[in-house]
Amino acid sequence: MEQPWKIETQAVQGGYSPKPTEPRIPAICQSTTFKYEKADHVAKLFDLELADHMYSRISNPTTEAFEKKICLMENGQGALATSSGQAAISLAILNICQSGQHIVAASTLYGGTYSLFANTLPKMGIEVSFIDPEADIEEIRKAFRPETRCLYAETIGNPGLNVLDFEKFSTLAKELQVPLIIDNTFATPYLCKPLQLGANIVVHSTTKYIDGHGTSVGGVIIDGGNFDWFCGKYPEMTEPDPSYHGLKYAENFAPMAYIVKARVQYMRDLGCCPAPQNSFLNNQGLTTLTLRMERHSSNALALAKHLEQHPAVAWVKYPGLESHPSYASAKKYLPLGCSGVLTFGIKGGREAGVKFMEACRLIALVVHVGDARSGVLHPASTTHRQLTEEQQIASGVSPDLLRISVGIEHIDDLIADVDQALRAAQ
Ligand SMILES: *Cc1c(COP(=O)(O)O)cnc(C)c1O
Repeated sequence: MEQPWKIETQAVQGGYSPKPTEPRIPAICQSTTFKYEKADHVAKLFDLELADHMYSRISNPTTEAFEKKICLMENGQGALATSSGQAAISLAILNICQSGQHIVAASTLYGGTYSLFANTLPKMGIEVSFIDPEADIEEIRKAFRPETRCLYAETIGNPGLNVLDFEKFSTLAKELQVPLIIDNTFATPYLCKPLQLGANIVVHSTTKYIDGHGTSVGGVIIDGGNFDWFCGKYPEMTEPDPSYHGLKYAENFAPMAYIVKARVQYMRDLGCCPAPQNSFLNNQGLTTLTLRMERHSSNALALAKHLEQHPAVAWVKYPGLESHPSYASAKKYLPLGCSGVLTFGIKGGREAGVKFMEACRLIALVVHVGDARSGVLHPASTTHRQLTEEQQIASGVSPDLLRISVGIEHIDDLIADVDQALRAAQ
């Protein structure tokens, strides 16, 4: 019944349908464990013959309501919520990749993901090849090896806000028989649905737009159920799992074999589960996601246009501007808007950047994006200060770069704040 609904309706009503006298809103089920009468019932849960809740590390009713809703909104087959976006990305990779294997990833990634891939996965024996997402398909193909397990990229990359060429990436992933994993945090399923564009698995930091109110760190993985695990390369999906009496995931749980495995193996063993309270808040956030993304996008476009003609501004990057190299991709893949993050260069370089950031009044200095409240950051003097100037430039952070996460306030107030801060910075 819920599948044919439009995303606006799914966001409000999806994933939870209470019976008479049950709460209208999914309750915060703040319980670690659940009660049973018979040993046989618990045995069946352990053997995965039944899917009732047993222990909140593995599943929880409040978290399930959130998972069902985001799964519908992304057009997926199953979802697993995690304690953070980093946890979601880690589980998404570890579920199909182990020591001695390899992944190919776009180089234009969120800093935390880049660090996970460049530093931590290699310590676990997983090698990562970074590719320029704008490179030719032939060039990217060269990075693949027989032991490559997935292709990884973000819908909207960092910090250049490049929009992914889904056609190129999904063509390669299909040809090389590896799942395409997409971080859809910046776009959200309202602006882009990667599973409809050839992706197989979607991850989110729900900390950003999905929560949307700056209350909860969290993440989620969504399984598209559209990858052929029987292609011969993924024995962990098709061969018996000794930790479940020889269960075979792809055979028993299609089309959500990948997400069942992530839950019952890696969430079971690594334990990065969300608090029920945070799942409740994420579910509340989803309710208004489509409205907020409209406003974030229209405000960001208006502010980007304003900045582009401002004499104190050297350059502006926003994929909704014709001047952005991804403008054509944005038109194709983000027709409803380009989300709320923009960057610009202030005349006067690093010093003016710090002054601007400190002069903003309505727009707060935060190391965060995706909040209803606008935020500003000068990365060269804050998040990227440990890097040398050459390293900063190599990672796309010039000394004059300011990032604004445009909130859902009235655009006139945002423009007024930016204008007074630009004056103060000169
Ligand atoms: C914030 C972010 C992450 C990491 O998520 P956390 O919830 O902070 O762990 C991953 N990817 C993107 C694109 C992000 O913006």
